Amino acid sequence: MSNNYLLSNAMSTFKNLLSAAVLTLSISPVMAQSNQPFNYVVDRFADIEVLRYQVTGFEDLTLNQKRLVYYLTEAALWGRDIMWDQNYKYNLPLRDMLEAVYVSYSGDRTTDEYQAFERYVKQVEFANGIHHHYSTDKFVPGFSAEWLTAAVAQLPAGSWTPVQAEIFAAIFDPAVAAKRVNQVDGEDLIVTSANNLYDGVTQQEVEDFYAALKDPNDPTPISYGLNTRVTKVDGAVVEQIYKLDGLYSGAIAHIVDNLTRAMAYAENDAQRMVIARLIDYYTTGDLATFDDYSIRWAEDTASQVDFINGFIESYGDPLGMTGAWESIVNFKDLAASHRTEVLSANAQWFEDHSPIDARFRKPTVKGVSAKVITAAILAGDAYPATPIGINLPNANWIRAAHGSKSVTIENITRAYDEASHGNGFAEEFVIDDATRALMQQYLFITDNLHTDLHECLGHGSGQLLPGVDPDALKEHGSTLEETRADLFALYYLADPKLIELGLLDNPDAYKAEYYKYILNGLMTQLMRIEPGKDIEEAHMRNRQLIAAWCYEHGRKDKVIELVRRKGKTFIKINDYDALRRLFGELLAEIQRIRSEGDYAAGKALVERYAVKVDRKLHQEVLRRYATLDIAPYRGFVNPIYTPVVDANGIITDVKVTYTEGYMEQMLRYSSRYAGLRD
Ligand code: ZN
Repeated sequence: MSNNYLLSNAMSTFKNLLSAAVLTLSISPVMAQSNQPFNYVVDRFADIEVLRYQVTGFEDLTLNQKRLVYYLTEAALWGRDIMWDQNYKYNLPLRDMLEAVYVSYSGDRTTDEYQAFERYVKQVEFANGIHHHYSTDKFVPGFSAEWLTAAVAQLPAGSWTPVQAEIFAAIFDPAVAAKRVNQVDGEDLIVTSANNLYDGVTQQEVEDFYAALKDPNDPTPISYGLNTRVTKVDGAVVEQIYKLDGLYSGAIAHIVDNLTRAMAYAENDAQRMVIARLIDYYTTGDLATFDDYSIRWAEDTASQVDFINGFIESYGDPLGMTGAWESIVNFKDLAASHRTEVLSANAQWFEDHSPIDARFRKPTVKGVSAKVITAAILAGDAYPATPIGINLPNANWIRAAHGSKSVTIENITRAYDEASHGNGFAEEFVIDDATRALMQQYLFITDNLHTDLHECLGHGSGQLLPGVDPDALKEHGSTLEETRADLFALYYLADPKLIELGLLDNPDAYKAEYYKYILNGLMTQLMRIEPGKDIEEAHMRNRQLIAAWCYEHGRKDKVIELVRRKGKTFIKINDYDALRRLFGELLAEIQRIRSEGDYAAGKALVERYAVKVDRKLHQEVLRRYATLDIAPYRGFVNPIYTPVVDANGIITDVKVTYTEGYMEQMLRYSSRYAGLRD
């Protein structure tokens, strides 16, 4: 048997080598689908790594599902320029100019200035504009205005539309449009933010405008300002609505056209109605229609293909009202969704066995059947940087009355995981080969199970004592809530129940996630903190709270040790069983704090364990991390969907290929989906 195994292994390696060699000679889309190893890393520049993801299972969809996905992906890509324009009013003409230089530059492309220009173009493409996608600070160009002026002067006539003075100021003057989203307390957040969601109005005027519209007693309020740009006409504050024949009409017309085509291939009447209501909303701009669409969308759990398309998340608006345009098209990963269905079906067992005071357990608990999905396209606010999960709709009253969809995008998390192998991280920070091997084998599945337990069961578990205010933990509420859900997940990850349910096949598998969690919470997440700063973000606080609390409470038994080897600090976990008991103890205490609304105890835990950074260890982590050249931010290029069309224009198949490069894709999108310029 072992001989045959070796032989077949050698054969497949040989075939892979052969097809790789052929591929470099003829770039045929069919060849790209051969079974050679998938190449996840596409590009690397500045603080960014660009990956690609695989749409596993697309071939197994029915023809009508493929047609549906195809038209939905087209509807997604047509919205790209809306997002660019929302981010900053000169982003689109600025992009035209940069791309014209990038394509046509006839000078020396090896000079420092050209290289700096190329890096800048790639940064701008990644951020959908001139501000960093995460920090929202404006990028600093490494080339001069003189260099760009000369490069533009030699462009072929008519290759871009000049708005030169404003564009040059936007690129080179640090005082112009410095920050896309300014959150500094006490400043006028509208006037000082460079986004294009407001124009010529002050924060006070915007707040007064919406205060006058809102009825504080309305139990089902629309999402005010979600699809509008606010400006002034003749001295009066007005909303410009994103809709057909309104703002962004050109791009919206293409979106509606493709949604209409998609509707013909809907999987069922409920989904057809979801698409129809979305078209109604784009046509009228009416936010009550958007709510009706959102309710129908949240309630459609039967369809395998699903999508988001619209003005959704409002992080780009300092007042948190206007939605950035985004689209994600996806289909349910049936095998992986089985995991969350099993957990959800056993929700009561987990609740009954939770290591918390019986008074704080829910007598009847309903698990959330979180879906695992495969992304087929990422667009707008979700491209190239993308979330790994979705939890929508955002309107609280809709969530309470009609439920929400919580999904994990597993082909994205898989791409992250695969691309991380071999980046040197494990060699630098994980203590020994045995732990590395366990993580290599089990971290992907235990990480996913951790997320499933956290989302499907953790947040929904436990109950407040009668009369306790759900907001009693105030500013520490979200940190403690994430802590509670994480502890629930960590505790059960080591439970034999998961093996009994067929979700894990090795009683030691959980150790992979335990090690990663403690390593991350005590050390490696610090690489995201600037020197001298404390931890602010709720999830990071929660992870350090758990790791530091367990370290301290297991100290006399040496459950977790910080050991020094060759001048470097390593996490050593000596007793995994004891660590699990510590997770259980802390869960009991956090649940008590939440159930009783014990603000003082919650605050004390957060302040003692979650906020302060060990300066020396922080320095060490930053130093070691810097030697690895790992990009702090990652994003994705999309695959290409090519319809096979018969003589009557009917799609008979859809092919998916993964051959496109980063700038290649950006340039193609810019010319193909220029919905606001035609
Ligand atoms: Zn959570």
